[in-house]
Amino acid sequence: MTTATSTKPACEVCGAVLSVYRDPDDVPGLCRPCARAEREREEAEHPSRMLSAEQLTDAVAGLLLLGRALSPDEPVLLRAELALRGVDVQAHELQAAISKLKRRHGLTIEAEEREPGYRLAEPWPYRFTRQRRASGD
Ligand SMILES: [Zn+2]
Repeated sequence: MTTATSTKPACEVCGAVLSVYRDPDDVPGLCRPCARAEREREEAEHPSRMLSAEQLTDAVAGLLLLGRALSPDEPVLLRAELALRGVDVQAHELQAAISKLKRRHGLTIEAEEREPGYRLAEPWPYRFTRQRRASGD
């Protein structure tokens, strides 16, 4: 008898069957306990970087602009993108950075309700305009 379970995705480390209800943030191919163990091992080897609030704001702006340029309709999973770069950030710090970008820098940042990720809804608001140099005075 062939079993359907043999085709279900399983954890690469412990062989546990992976839930179909996984978060997009979950590590592909690993169950949560193994992913956590993996993360802790990574942490011990490469402590995650802490960014100042200003650095985080810049980093978030950069990721949103990159997302807008490469795939305008796709939301950017900011925490996952930062984690890929070794930056561990709390949800409230991310919120603070996003509201700063909206308020202070005039970026239009949108998030779909109950969908992960953020999108830059309008292009980068700054445009280069050549300054007319006063001549002959
Ligand atoms: Zn596992």
